[in-house]
Amino acid sequence: MDLFEYQGRDLFERHGLPVLGGGVAETPQEARAIAERLGGRVVVKAQVKVGGRGKAGGVKLAADADEAEARATDILGMDIKDHTVHKVMLAETADIKEEYYFSYLLDRANRTFLCIASVAGGMEIETVAEEDPERVAKIAIDANKGVDEVTAREIVTAAKFPADVADQIVDIAVKLWQAFVAEDATLVEVNPLAKVGDGRVLLLDAKITLDENAGFRHPDHEALVDQSAVDPLEQAAKAKNLNYVKLDGEVGIIGNGAGLVMSTLDVVAYAGEGHGGVKPANFLDIGGGASAQVMANGLEIVLGDPAVKSVFVNVFGGITACDEVANGIIQALALLGERGEAVTKPLVVRLDGNNAEAGRAILDAANNPLVQRVDTMDGAAERAAELAAAGK
Ligand code: GDP
Ligand code: MN
Repeated sequence: MDLFEYQGRDLFERHGLPVLGGGVAETPQEARAIAERLGGRVVVKAQVKVGGRGKAGGVKLAADADEAEARATDILGMDIKDHTVHKVMLAETADIKEEYYFSYLLDRANRTFLCIASVAGGMEIETVAEEDPERVAKIAIDANKGVDEVTAREIVTAAKFPADVADQIVDIAVKLWQAFVAEDATLVEVNPLAKVGDGRVLLLDAKITLDENAGFRHPDHEALVDQSAVDPLEQAAKAKNLNYVKLDGEVGIIGNGAGLVMSTLDVVAYAGEGHGGVKPANFLDIGGGASAQVMANGLEIVLGDPAVKSVFVNVFGGITACDEVANGIIQALALLGERGEAVTKPLVVRLDGNNAEAGRAILDAANNPLVQRVDTMDGAAERAAELAAAGK
């Protein structure tokens, strides 16, 4: 989950990192009130989960509360890289002398954590890395050791931070790592980390990604979710305890087991290339013990997606045998009919594994015109893609 800057600012503050006072507003009037509280002179910043707001005109200085209200009026409703601005953050202004870059992230490719630091902050780090690679230091962080003062000094040396800010950056590097770990973040990025007129080093921007898989350890993270951006189908699926991710294709996918569903997405995407580029519409893993109820819930979610033109149910019977799954599908279709949500889109079902023969016989006996049985994964993917293309 990505955070808005104002949420990141709050998080930094909670962890004792040096930030400037700030608040968030959804209306120009709220913006004025916050500016008054902060002493009048503020920076007004668009809250969108995308970088380059400064360049896009989403960061503006205001000399007093009147101007803050006016700038908030300009920025609220703005479009920045296809993100509409619904909130602005107001923060105390800083007299910036130097802009640095500092981040910790999970480096999946190298299976480690990484610190990226540069004295050339303020602009996009990708650009600096391309044009001026020796100005970007990358330091691998041992997950077991973390960042203590010694490591922090190594970072400061590697990035060639000026001597007058070295001690402050060491302190920030250690605290930022503690925050990174404590919050189960996969990214904390500060750009700019700025040296201001009085010599202090402050965190003036925050880009934070929290690991949702660790959400169970952080009940407070739930409140950080941007409800307006939550996909309604994903929300409905979550309420039903389904492991569902909305994608942008036309073939609905239901499978048991995350690995099987992942490979189902691949074979459907591959088959779709031969049918005008149809793609998987979602990820949905109904898990091992898929009862009729769970199957009905899954079908309801997948069919509730207007983009879905066909559904591929891919089941490898294990602990839950295929005959139970087949019964589940038949009962699910009946259940949906009773709920007044009769299925009208074609279903391609592939059953293999434990009791596959019995399962297939159940499907055949039910003789539902919408249900087509194909016994190989590739063949079923091909058929589902073909039906989706025909239904477009
Ligand atoms: P981004 O463009 O989306 O990364 O937004 P930032 O929060 O990094 O702001 C962009 C730029 O605005 C920064 O690099 C600073 O140069 C400038 N900026 C941000 N806050 C202040 C401030 O309080 N005072 C001044 N003078 N400039 C600021
Ligand atoms: Mn920035």
